[in-house]
Amino acid sequence: MKKTADFLLDMLYPKKCPLCHQILKEKDRLICPECSGKVRPISGPRCMKCGRPVKMEEEYCEDCRKGAHHFTEGRSIFWYGEVWRQSLVRFKYYGCREYGDFYAKAMSIFGKKYLERWKPDLIVPVPLHSRKKRMRGFNQAAYLAERLSELTGIPWEDHLVRKIRSTRSQKKLNAIQRRQNLKNAYRVTGKIPGFSVLVVDDVYTTGSTADAMAMCLLEAGAEKVYFLTICAGRA
Ligand SMILES: [Zn+2]
Ligand SMILES: [Zn+2]
Repeated sequence: MKKTADFLLDMLYPKKCPLCHQILKEKDRLICPECSGKVRPISGPRCMKCGRPVKMEEEYCEDCRKGAHHFTEGRSIFWYGEVWRQSLVRFKYYGCREYGDFYAKAMSIFGKKYLERWKPDLIVPVPLHSRKKRMRGFNQAAYLAERLSELTGIPWEDHLVRKIRSTRSQKKLNAIQRRQNLKNAYRVTGKIPGFSVLVVDDVYTTGSTADAMAMCLLEAGAEKVYFLTICAGRA
């Protein structure tokens, strides 16, 4: 019976490759063979705190040298180029949820060395405001957190942090405006004394979201707050 249901679902909603959007012929694949050969994570010298590219001789980027961030450390896996922009749009707004399985897998593979070093006790997704979540139908960061938890065995907690204020889109705002926009937007609902927390999201841009999350998690007793995102965009 289950087989028949799976078969019908595959007919109606065939799985697609998250990068070229062609239908996947082998249904247990997460990405097509052509794109699989082309996937390249960010490489080269990176800031030891936020993971942004730096010159060979530098350990930290300018922002991190100035102590601009509240989080402990973080990394992103891919550059946010046009291919990734389109992929994430389909994932978030056009029902291609299966893309999230590929993203989480890539985060677990290419982020393995960081996760092993950070040893987080808990994975926490960046929450959406309840109204936005209703409109979108799901929280993309929670989807990633759940999958990453399955792949790594690190527990995840969906309701620890709540978005208590609806904020305007960060897209057209600069770093200072983004910070202001997110002020007091998140609330931690429990105490997490001494915890090491991993915040998961889709894109890291100026770090204002990671910082806003870190501030409230640290206030609730967390000792360390890391972040891992699929992509890093231009600040
Ligand atoms: Zn493909
Ligand atoms: Zn940095």
